[in-house]
Amino acid sequence: MAAGADAVAVAGDRIALVGPTRDVVRNSGAAEPIDADGASVFAGFQDAHAHPSHAGVDLGRCTLDDIDDRSGLVAAVADYASRRPAEPWILGSGWGMDAFPGGVATAAELDSVVSDRPVFLMNRDGHGAWVNSLALEIAGIDAHTPDPPDGRIERNAAGEPIGTLHEGAADLVGRLAPPVSAAEREAGILRAQEYLFSLGVTGWQDAWVTRGDHEAYLAVAGRGELVAHVTGALWWDRGRGLDQVDELVDRRTSRGRYTARTVKIMLDGVCENFTAAMLDPYVGRPREAEHPTGLTFVDEPVLTAAVIELDRAGFQVHFHALGDRAVRMALDALAGARTANGPSNGRHHLAHLQLVDPTDVALFAPLGAVANIQPLWAHEDGYQRDLTIPYLGPERSARQYPFGELHRAGARLAIGSDWSVSTPNPFEILHVAVTRTHPDAPGVPPLGPDQALSWDDAIEAATLGAAYVCHRDTTSGTIEIGKDADLVVADRNVRVDDEPWATRVVATIVGGRVVHEG
Ligand SMILES: [Zn+2]
Repeated sequence: MAAGADAVAVAGDRIALVGPTRDVVRNSGAAEPIDADGASVFAGFQDAHAHPSHAGVDLGRCTLDDIDDRSGLVAAVADYASRRPAEPWILGSGWGMDAFPGGVATAAELDSVVSDRPVFLMNRDGHGAWVNSLALEIAGIDAHTPDPPDGRIERNAAGEPIGTLHEGAADLVGRLAPPVSAAEREAGILRAQEYLFSLGVTGWQDAWVTRGDHEAYLAVAGRGELVAHVTGALWWDRGRGLDQVDELVDRRTSRGRYTARTVKIMLDGVCENFTAAMLDPYVGRPREAEHPTGLTFVDEPVLTAAVIELDRAGFQVHFHALGDRAVRMALDALAGARTANGPSNGRHHLAHLQLVDPTDVALFAPLGAVANIQPLWAHEDGYQRDLTIPYLGPERSARQYPFGELHRAGARLAIGSDWSVSTPNPFEILHVAVTRTHPDAPGVPPLGPDQALSWDDAIEAATLGAAYVCHRDTTSGTIEIGKDADLVVADRNVRVDDEPWATRVVATIVGGRVVHEG
């Protein structure tokens, strides 16, 4: 909010006046002033990378997000299963790899509580599944099953599956689970919307929109039930080639507050299971390393041709690029698109950016590539201590999530949560962005403190920056006269030195309408 302004007046769905309370009250006329006395008002937060369509469905299933220990996880699965005796499969998500030695969850632990029905539980970051023995049996996975090209089956010394399936290997079981119905998807989106409004999030880019999700968004948008502004990133099928571009063009559409003109290309995986694509090999791996520099899911020539084609067709490309080799592939492909097509307003963006080679940091700005960052991950925790730092080595570990460097090099930043991988609470995310520590871990040293962002830069990335990647920066993202009245009233005058994570949202307003009151 502009300096000295502590009140905002709304007329219809737009911001009519911004200024000191007394001026706004005196001059607002028919407009309704919001007096933020003693509190603070922010432009509605926008989430540049989240999975609300999937997270909303998950909220209705076996959710394990808040449980950090093995026995608690197993007990929660047992409890869920006992309360749903008629469900043919136990489906859920949210367990953390750091609850298990080496990040490997076992079928035996699940068998001890559910053995009569298949269990399929995606982990917190969506890059692996924990399954029971019946699920392995139904999928025909045994010692003779080869790893799929885009994934890995965790095995014991005899080669038998243990119960954790990484990346594409999870699909071997997941594809057999009952499909999510259209009604479940639509209910999931609305459940997600309600939850995000309670946190002050008024719009988002959904980073993985399948055909079913797309139809569900169109349905709720068509009925006027989608109040948040949503950009849908249509999923690039990495098993196919350029033949899918025409289909994506056919699906490109806008209805109500839903717009789908983005394509999501997932280039690599994550560090914790050695599937992030690295320029240099992982170090100190305990097992025979099959892919010493991780995995890439799209071949480079196909990627470059696809990005050129999508850019030319007027799409925005949203990359999952976590390792430094994946980041370089994305930047190379964007450079190819600029050479082939000239300038575009695609506002292409790279999400995650756990490692960026120093020579690549400076390429974001000239290529117009937006750094889509998830600051909540940039602190030291069990994932870092046990599953990441030992395998990256000290030099790479110290430069993880180089958000400060990217900002100083002129890269435009947009903040996303990657919910349900981690919380979509903007104040918790902003806290880590500026401190590189997590409020739950007092005394733990900051992770790369020179990569911290200033409070103002972090707020801008969570509002205007995210609006920019959703092509909504001319109508939202700041509190300015004439912009959409998408506003968040917080319960305090938030300051960096005052534990921003503890901030609560008192009211969320979208288009001048109160959508949440806390
Ligand atoms: Zn994601």
